[in-house]
Amino acid sequence: MVPGRVYDAMSKPIVGHLDAFFFQVVEDIRGLLRTAFGTENTFTMAISGTGSAGMEAAVANFVEPGSKFVVLANGFFCDRITEMGKRYGAEVVRLEKPWGEAFSDAEATEFIRNEKPRVVAFVQAETSTGVFQASKAICAAAHEVGALVIADVVTSLGGMPVQLDANGIDIAYSCSQKGLSCPPGLAPISLSPRAIEWLRAKTTPQRTWYLDLKLLDQYYDGAHRYHHTAPISMFYALREALVSIAEEGVENRWARHQRNHLAFVAGIEAMGLKMHVAEGPRLCTLNTPRVPEGIDDLKVRQRLLAEHDIDVAGGFGPLAGKVFRVGIMGPLSTVENVLMLLDAFEKCLRAEGYQPAASGREAAAAFYASQKS
Ligand SMILES: *Cc1c(COP(=O)(O)O)cnc(C)c1O
Repeated sequence: MVPGRVYDAMSKPIVGHLDAFFFQVVEDIRGLLRTAFGTENTFTMAISGTGSAGMEAAVANFVEPGSKFVVLANGFFCDRITEMGKRYGAEVVRLEKPWGEAFSDAEATEFIRNEKPRVVAFVQAETSTGVFQASKAICAAAHEVGALVIADVVTSLGGMPVQLDANGIDIAYSCSQKGLSCPPGLAPISLSPRAIEWLRAKTTPQRTWYLDLKLLDQYYDGAHRYHHTAPISMFYALREALVSIAEEGVENRWARHQRNHLAFVAGIEAMGLKMHVAEGPRLCTLNTPRVPEGIDDLKVRQRLLAEHDIDVAGGFGPLAGKVFRVGIMGPLSTVENVLMLLDAFEKCLRAEGYQPAASGREAAAAFYASQKS
């Protein structure tokens, strides 16, 4: 959901892509993004394109042909990173987990120590499964063997603590349209000083031109040398979205997402449904309740959309027909919305033949009441 003030910002007059005003907007975005990312990284910016452009920029700039690239693979977006790694000529080595499980510190550490790759990639917030991946141990092990760490923070940025510096993440990318509540079109990206040093020392030629981070740095920072025509309105939108996040306070925003996630889970479990991801590594922004036995998830979702205007996504790949994917993020993450959603969900499940054990809405309301004291 995009707040009205972000739509308003997008309708403001366009300036040139080399205008001083545009670079002021860029500077504001860079500063505000650092807070959301939890970093002091100088190289923090938004590049033109969606989250996948951020992913491709990370892979294209840091994964070299013939080099060993470890991907911690437990979902759809890990597979996309794998595919990009292969296309850029890397020797991709995967540690695999079933969709819905997180990697333990020990197994990730052992794998990285054994493989000794140049670069390690993982997905902090796997939108296909609902898993949050802890990253401190992954980064420590990678740094021990001299590797850089790429983290996909597409569905955590703006909704959960990403904490690049505290975790030791070297390269992180995201998108504008998930936790940041903007239209799609920009990919925030941040590089640690180690990553920049690595980029400076790189001698193999860049294979990508549009996503060449050195060229982009000369456009957005420093010389302001023309590279491409930035989508000006999207920068207005992103700045406004980040200002609204700063006004709420990132910590307050994370807490709001967590509270509403926990209330939703209380409601889901009261109805007798189960969450696909074990308690602990769950995303607050994207919830994955399991589809109850004998129920057609598509019919429930179609009913939710037709009768309640609520758009819930389905599982795909190995989770097709097995989970619902319920995004509760940005301005949508409110007490009223969680209660309304649970009510509508219960009605649609009933209509499709599932008998809830108890009222999900009441359980969530009880959760909120318990939080107040
Ligand atoms: C959405 C998503 C992407 C891709 O972003 P697009 O904006 O669709 O290109 C990458 N990784 C994760 C984890 C995502 O959820």
